[in-house]
Amino acid sequence: MFVREICDPVARLTGEKVGSAAEKALAHVGVTTIGSLLCRYPRDWEDRSRSAPLKDFRNGPVCSIVRVIAHEWFDAGKIRTLKIFIEDDTARACLLCYNRPFMKNQLVVGNDYLIYSDFEFKYGEIRSSAFDFEPIPAVSVASAAGGTERIAPGQILPVYPLTKGLRMAKLRALVKQALDAYLPVIEDEIPQSIRERYHLLTKAHALKAIHFPESMKELEKAKKTIMYEELFYLEVMVGKRAQAKRSVMRRVPEETASCMTQQKTPDLQNLLLDRLPFVLTEGQQEAVADINGDMDSPYPMSRLLQGDVGSGKTLVAFLAALKAVEKGGQAAIMAPTELLARQHAENAAKLLEPLGVNVAFLTGNIKSKGRKQLLKDLALGVIDVAIGTHALFSRDVCYRDLRLVVIDEQHRFGVVQRQAIMAKGDAPDLLMMSATPIPRTLAITVFGDLDVSVIKGLPPGRQPIVTHLARESNENKVYEFIRAQLKTGAQAYFVYPLIEEGELDLKDAVSMKERLATEIFPEYTLALAHSKMDEEEKRLTMEAFRGGDIHILVATSVVEVGVDVPNATCMVIEHAERFGLSALHQLRGRVGRGTAQSYCFLVYSDKYTEDAKTRLMVMLEHSDGFVIAEEDLKLRGPGQINGVEQSGYIRLGLADPVEHTAILEKARADAFAMLEADSGLLSSDHRCVADVLSRAPPFSDVGV
Ligand code: ADP
Ligand code: MG
Repeated sequence: MFVREICDPVARLTGEKVGSAAEKALAHVGVTTIGSLLCRYPRDWEDRSRSAPLKDFRNGPVCSIVRVIAHEWFDAGKIRTLKIFIEDDTARACLLCYNRPFMKNQLVVGNDYLIYSDFEFKYGEIRSSAFDFEPIPAVSVASAAGGTERIAPGQILPVYPLTKGLRMAKLRALVKQALDAYLPVIEDEIPQSIRERYHLLTKAHALKAIHFPESMKELEKAKKTIMYEELFYLEVMVGKRAQAKRSVMRRVPEETASCMTQQKTPDLQNLLLDRLPFVLTEGQQEAVADINGDMDSPYPMSRLLQGDVGSGKTLVAFLAALKAVEKGGQAAIMAPTELLARQHAENAAKLLEPLGVNVAFLTGNIKSKGRKQLLKDLALGVIDVAIGTHALFSRDVCYRDLRLVVIDEQHRFGVVQRQAIMAKGDAPDLLMMSATPIPRTLAITVFGDLDVSVIKGLPPGRQPIVTHLARESNENKVYEFIRAQLKTGAQAYFVYPLIEEGELDLKDAVSMKERLATEIFPEYTLALAHSKMDEEEKRLTMEAFRGGDIHILVATSVVEVGVDVPNATCMVIEHAERFGLSALHQLRGRVGRGTAQSYCFLVYSDKYTEDAKTRLMVMLEHSDGFVIAEEDLKLRGPGQINGVEQSGYIRLGLADPVEHTAILEKARADAFAMLEADSGLLSSDHRCVADVLSRAPPFSDVGV
């Protein structure tokens, strides 16, 4: 049995009765089976294996054998608090039991205990208010039979992430019981040859040791084993996907091709290009060539299109959609916000409909009557290009022949959503777009079989955006500058971290809109845009802003993605210290979309952290999104990269593909070599891999 196959409910554990509270608490974090309990690894370990004298408390937490010498009560406000004095041969210390008067019965004067705590030296004494203890077992060990089993002192203890309603001691006891009961049935998941090559532990041994290691050395081995296994399977999945891609062919490509030539479908792409007032940039041309190549090949495309904000990805997506239509199929273009989806739909209506291509806009908000007709047209193939939010893959949406799926701002979507939209077609082509670059190493190792196109550079005539930092107290100078710009006919965004006045002492969009409209810019028209607004209202506002009837848009980060109004050349971000780097970059990318000089003001209040200061400096010094993403990675550390972790590509227990690249590369080489040599996984050594994949796939949700 593989550990993930152990489906017995946690409640089944004998000895310890799982109270419904603990059960609920576990279920809340997704742990319902014993298998999932065992796969929830500790976040840390307390090394109580080596006891240290109390006097060594300055070197970190100590695990000391002490005797309780006295109890004392003192008044803290109205409440009496217990203070317990302890000592060993080297020092004396005290334990403060806030809200725990009952400790007087548990730490008895004259008895010996094992104390585990991080002590501090304060008010002339060594003290601690957070400690753990175990009685030193008396000579009569025999009493263990029958009684609740205690965790012996002197161990290395797991520290689990807790949730409300669950105590650490309880969780430890449950895991220990689960291990005792199930370890003997747990099967290995990696081929024996690999395990021996790297001196890894068996799965059962690794599980035992990850929860209750005998030594820190054993713990390291267990970690290495589990990380390797996770990354190995990640790469097996990547490798299998690559294999599958090579084996999936489009349905009857020849037939389609011949029927196309008969119909003489016009070259829609060129029709569009001829109508554009500009030519494609070199980067766009290359991307379109890549995409056309993929879409003409017999294998479905899966391509990631990266390009900085404003590099013109939308147009590339439209050209790809035209290709799908030329081939007699349909395209779906999915965007993360209704605002952005609507903008795409409006652009598509302008650019594609004159070519005779039918475009439809689909969101969750469209009323039932219009929706019915729309769905009918989609199913009949009357609609060629559907543009919308996640509504594009609602249950009742059917496509006649979905050939291409475009996912804009792909890092905003999870794997499940991606799979759901893909399932609406029969192995459709996939184009994912993102302005948030994924570091190259990760792109090839994790995304593996994904092809990547990068649009380098921006359309010609764009001037670098001038960025200024301004203290909050200098905001009036910023406002005056904006006034001068508005006089020339420009438009501006003002962005705030909050929608409405909140508990935090921060400016918010609603109040600031009032203030800006009445006190600062009474001569101009202002409007609000934020996520709590009605969609229809937001739509009208955006339309008016795009049309120039609104001069200043006061918003939250809803305008972060995609919004494209070239005449808006001023971006003022207040409380810029509250925004992350990628948000700042995206927001700044809302301006500089035309040929006029654009400006971005990052207004910060004095309450900023060191990190915030670094972020603002990065924004001041860099304009290249790829460089900013690298800086973001440095600041936030691996494992949090936009578009990787959040998108659900990797949900591993211990390993971090960015941090543990050395193991990742080995695992990748091993997995690929295995698939290359024995693609059916038939050899006795690979049998277990085949079994894992069929019986208990580790990442059933990974993959496109
Ligand atoms: P992003 O890559 O951020 O999604 P968009 O697709 O929104 O960028 O494009 C930004 C702006 O650049 C749009 O107004 C678009 O019409 C314009 N644009 C796109 N391609 C070109 C080009 N080759 N030359 C000039 N302008 C272009
Ligand atoms: Mg875009």
